Amino acid sequence: PAAPANGRIEMQKYVASQISAQQRTDLLKRPIINSTDIMGRVAPIMQAVRERGDAAVLELTAKFDRVQLSSTVIKAPFSPESMQLDEKTRAAIDQAYENIYRFHDAQMDRETLVVETMPGVVCSRFARPIERVGLYVPGGTAVLPSSALMLGVPAKVAGCKQIVLATPPRPDGSIVPEVMYVAHKVGATHVVVAGGAQAVAAMAYGTETIPKVDKICGPGNQYVTAAKMLAQNDSSCLVSIDMPAGPSEVLVIADQNSNAAYVASDLLSQAEHGADSQVVLVASGINDEKLAEIEEQIHVQASRLPRVDIVRQSIPKSYSLRFNNLKESIAFSNDYAPEHLILHIDNAEDLIPEVDNAGSVFVGAFSPESCGDYASGTNHTLPTYGYSRMYSGVNTLTFVKHITSQQLTADGLNRLGDTVMRLAEVEGLEAHRNAVAIRVADLRK
Ligand code: NAD
Repeated sequence: PAAPANGRIEMQKYVASQISAQQRTDLLKRPIINSTDIMGRVAPIMQAVRERGDAAVLELTAKFDRVQLSSTVIKAPFSPESMQLDEKTRAAIDQAYENIYRFHDAQMDRETLVVETMPGVVCSRFARPIERVGLYVPGGTAVLPSSALMLGVPAKVAGCKQIVLATPPRPDGSIVPEVMYVAHKVGATHVVVAGGAQAVAAMAYGTETIPKVDKICGPGNQYVTAAKMLAQNDSSCLVSIDMPAGPSEVLVIADQNSNAAYVASDLLSQAEHGADSQVVLVASGINDEKLAEIEEQIHVQASRLPRVDIVRQSIPKSYSLRFNNLKESIAFSNDYAPEHLILHIDNAEDLIPEVDNAGSVFVGAFSPESCGDYASGTNHTLPTYGYSRMYSGVNTLTFVKHITSQQLTADGLNRLGDTVMRLAEVEGLEAHRNAVAIRVADLRK
C-alpha cells in the first residue's frame, strides 16, 4: 500500500465484525517467500565450499563481504585484544548472560526417566548433548552479541563439546569484540570468519580448518535460511537445523486501559527490524478515541527514530484489527500464531491459559519485548511465519537429543513374549518373532 499523502506513519485499519472470512484468512497470512530463486543462487555456493573448502570460503567472503582474508577461522583461546569492551557494555553482556544461563540451566534434562511399563520391563530415557554444533550469528556491520548469547548459552548448558560460531567479518576483516567476548564466555572452540551460505556450508560439510558440525542453529537472511534448508536435505552431510525462519513479527493485544505510548513503543520496536517486519495490533474492545491515541503515538514516536526510514516501510504494511472482546482477540492471535505475543491488558497473566500458539509471551504493561530480546532470560530465537503452531523456540533441549533404553528380566520377557511374537507374525517378520521364541522356549521348558 502507498504511504498516506499527509506523510503520517500509519497502520492499516480493520474491524473484525466488518471483514469477510476471506479477508480474515488473508490477514493471517505472511508474505510469500519465493525460495526457488534463492535456492538456485545458494546451491552453487554450497557446492563450491563442499568441493574446494577454505579456498572457496575465502573467495566468497571477498565477493560478498568485500574482505580479503587469509584465514577462515579463529581458534580458542581468543586473544584479549579481540574482545576488548568498555565497562558498561561488558557489564550488560555479563548480566544478560547470567539471566539467560539461569533460565536455560533450569531447562536441562539431567534426570534419567525410568518407567516399569509392566513387571520386569523397564524403559528409560536420558539426554546427551549434540557433540558438535554450529551457531550462526548474523550481520557484518551490525553488532549482535544478543544472538550469540541466545545460541551459545544453551549450547554451553547442554554440554556440547564443540561449539563453532560463524559470523561475517567487518570491512577490516575483524569480528566485533562484543561477539568475540560472548564466544569466549560460552566456550566456543572456533569462530568462523564468514557469513551467508558459505558459512553454513562450511559448518555443514567441514573444510580443512572449519570443523563439520551435527546441527546448525541461528537466524540470518534468506541466503542463510536457504543454505540451512539445503544442508538439512543433503543426507551426505548429515546435519540438522533448529527451525525454518521468516521475518520477525509481533502481535500486541491492547484494550481500553492500555497505555497508548507503551503499546506504540512495542509495535515500533518490532517495526524497526526491517521493511518486512510483521506488526499486528489486536485492539480488544477499544473505542475510536483510544485507537486514535495509539495511532498518534505510533506516528510521533516513529518520526523520532533513527531508523524511521525502515519504519516508514514496515508500519504501512502492518495493521490494527478491532474485536469486541478478549475471547475473539485471543482466538485471532492463536490462529495467527505470532513469534512474539504481547499482552497489554489488565491482569494479563489470566489470559495465559488461553494462549495456544506463540513463540514467547510478554505479560503486562511492564514486560516489553526488548527485555526478552536481550536479557530477561528467555530465548529470542523463536519460530516465525506461523511455525509457532508446531515449533518451540531455541532452548536447552535444542542442543541435546534423547536416548531411550529398555531392560527386561527373564520374567518380563516371559510376560511380554506372546504379545511381541503375535505382532511380529502379523507383520510377517519371522526373524523378529524367532528372537523372542528362542528365549521364551528356554524359559518355558
Ligand atoms: P546475515 O549475516 O544474515 O547475512 C550476511 C551475509 O549474506 C553476507 O556475509 C553474505 O555472505 C551474504 N550475502 C549477501 N548478499 C548476498 C548475495 N547477493 N548472494 C549470496 N550471499 C549474499 O546478515 P544480514 O543480511 O544483515 O541479515 C540479518 C538477518 O537476520 C535479518 O533478516 C534479520 O531480521 C535477522 N535477524 C534475526 C534475529 C532473530 O533472532 N530473529 C536476530 C538478528 C537478526
